[in-house]
Amino acid sequence: MASRPPSSAEPPETDDDLRIEPPMKRAAGLASVRSAFAHMHKHGHSLQSAVRILGQMNQTDGFDCPGCAWPDPDDRAALTEFCENGAKAAAWETTRRRLDWKFFQQYSIDDLARKSDYWLGLQGRLTQPLMLRPGSRFYEPIEWSEAFKRVANALKALDSPNEAIFYTSGRTSNEAAFLYQLFVRAFGTNNLPDCSNMCHESSGVGLGQTVGIGKGSVTLDDVHEADTIIVMGQNPGTNHPRMLTALQKAKKNGAQIIAINPLPEAGLMCFVNPKSPSQILTGGTQIADLFLQVQINGDVALLKALMCLLLEAEAKSPGDVLDEDFIGLYTEGFAKLRAHLGSQDVDALIDAAGVSSAELDKAVEIILRSRKTIVCWAMGLTQHKNGVGNVREIVNFLLMRGSIGMPGAGTCPVRGHSNVQGDRTMGIHDRPSKALLDRIQAVFGFDPPREPGFNTVEAIHAMLQGRAKLFFAMGGNFLQATPDTNRTARALQNCDMIVHVSTKLNRGHLVRGKWSIILPCLARSEVDQQAYGPQFVTVENSMGVVHSSHGHLKPAHPELYSEASIVAWLAEQVLGPETPVSWCWLIENYDRIRDLIAETIPGFEDFNARVREPGGFHLHNGARERKFNTESGKAAFTINPAPDLTLPDGTYRMMTVRTHDQYNTTVYGNDDRYRGIRGGRRVVFMNEDDMREAGLTAGTLVDITNDFGGEHRIAPRFTIVAYPIPRRCIATYFPEANVLVPLNKFAEDSYTPASKDVTVRLIPST
Ligand code: SF4
Repeated sequence: MASRPPSSAEPPETDDDLRIEPPMKRAAGLASVRSAFAHMHKHGHSLQSAVRILGQMNQTDGFDCPGCAWPDPDDRAALTEFCENGAKAAAWETTRRRLDWKFFQQYSIDDLARKSDYWLGLQGRLTQPLMLRPGSRFYEPIEWSEAFKRVANALKALDSPNEAIFYTSGRTSNEAAFLYQLFVRAFGTNNLPDCSNMCHESSGVGLGQTVGIGKGSVTLDDVHEADTIIVMGQNPGTNHPRMLTALQKAKKNGAQIIAINPLPEAGLMCFVNPKSPSQILTGGTQIADLFLQVQINGDVALLKALMCLLLEAEAKSPGDVLDEDFIGLYTEGFAKLRAHLGSQDVDALIDAAGVSSAELDKAVEIILRSRKTIVCWAMGLTQHKNGVGNVREIVNFLLMRGSIGMPGAGTCPVRGHSNVQGDRTMGIHDRPSKALLDRIQAVFGFDPPREPGFNTVEAIHAMLQGRAKLFFAMGGNFLQATPDTNRTARALQNCDMIVHVSTKLNRGHLVRGKWSIILPCLARSEVDQQAYGPQFVTVENSMGVVHSSHGHLKPAHPELYSEASIVAWLAEQVLGPETPVSWCWLIENYDRIRDLIAETIPGFEDFNARVREPGGFHLHNGARERKFNTESGKAAFTINPAPDLTLPDGTYRMMTVRTHDQYNTTVYGNDDRYRGIRGGRRVVFMNEDDMREAGLTAGTLVDITNDFGGEHRIAPRFTIVAYPIPRRCIATYFPEANVLVPLNKFAEDSYTPASKDVTVRLIPST
């Protein structure tokens, strides 16, 4: 397949070796073990070294997996508390390859722009600060002192602190995040967009509005104890693989699982626990007792239909279905919801959901067995225009039966990046609460800015319009994580300075501002040596457990700074004598940072002692105790209209998904084993009937286009793959298809880009 020149910011085509195989019906098993060690090998590790590194992962005295935020069980398995994708993440950051100045002499940024993120990441770890001067085509190494001075001077030269944007990715530790937000607010802005804006913001907003806390209510024990687990819009086999172990345990304890998703993902169907020889011999555990293949964005319709059927069941057997005591004592708004549901046409809802009424009857049968019901979800629900409504509808469903705040029941938004939830708790938020700002004022003696900052979408607009001129990224790959790739690139190019704190090179580094600087940092698995000796950091997982993470490996280079140190050194230079704290004193010993966190953030009292307990501690969660921190003190039923799913003729509803060789924007390889894709990423999964109707065949190359907001977008040369996906729905990989996701199509209230619902056309490539 011929490649087109990479004139834009989009990932280049890498599909020359594309091969299509039948999708797999089982997840994990021995293939996952082979894959884990193959990735360690690819990055230069012998078997012995791989075992040594992976054996430390997710252990109480080891390092926290830099992958997802799934919690660790209390009874951790010695040496094997990781999954295939955790191993890929570890291999990626512990690679033995290094990028030195010769590499940057050899490759100009134009050369590098022709490479994929996968290729760039494969080249190894960044080892020294780099700078791209105005007009130059080559990054050049600079001293740390010069790098800090240049960034500090650029920040100080801005007309207003609000001209700077400080982005955070979810890898950043609690300690670094706390210092970072403190520095940014002392500097004078709340412009703190983060990766949460693009994933679970809809969950945070929807849960905050209804149950008073923007986090899930369940613990891992609840998952093990549940009688019914509903997994919606989530692909745990790839994105949170150890969740399958928890689901397997739940099933062993008698749970039934309903999977609701447009794609029949292998991990939703069957899990072969690679740690169990009997599982390998017998073929594993069936995960979903019932699979509801909902059409893309059919979830509100499906949940409404389910609730209507529950009301019908209650009418037949009063008192057995609804939890009237719970509803009366702890909630408000049920009468309105009941009236709303009474006005719905159930058949039309079932039709809109794209499932059959027999399937829904079976779901009701499973649900009615017990009130111990958990709903888990991820971006399949949040990345829609109605993403917040989706989450509120889940809450309605759970509240009806009192399935919240009791063992084995509740809400479970499954977070992606390993400390994305913790960063929020530490104050990384463009719309901080008054309570947080008041605490900062009380503890640090300065009045932090009170006006809201920019979230991710607003930040891109501000850069496009020249209202923001300096973009600082604490980790991540903003360019590839955001929607409307070319527009984001234009926004970044408008900046006077772009600064990236990174462990590895990525395509985000190749879209230049006037000045661009890369500050290389330590990885979580590495020893963070400070004046008082090696420091550990802390993180918060998806279920609100705060625990420590200890790096044991030799740093990739002796001159790497930790993220916390980078913030501290920069803050010293930017704030000068006006500083509220002695930054460099703080980083001598991270216990000092944790003492400040304990003073500032509720729930972290006695932080240093509690986090040293094996496994850490649970943060208080009101919803878990039926204490709903809403204005009225009650959990709120809400009315959420089902979206209009009518499609113009000749168009399809596209959702973006990740491959099995990928974590967020990090691409570890070009395979998607479970879906049968090898050696390529530019594919469109399409229903065979739709293909026939459109005159397309498997292997046809198509350009995917859309028009939104007066702009024509095109993602060229994608290969059609026949796949069991609902009619008029198609799936493509992120970030290749991000170019099609309109910046201005986002969830109401949360601004989460609607990456799971993009109306597109397919045009045969010329
Ligand atoms: S489930 Fe998530 S946290 Fe656990 S090892 Fe896998 S990627 Fe890492």
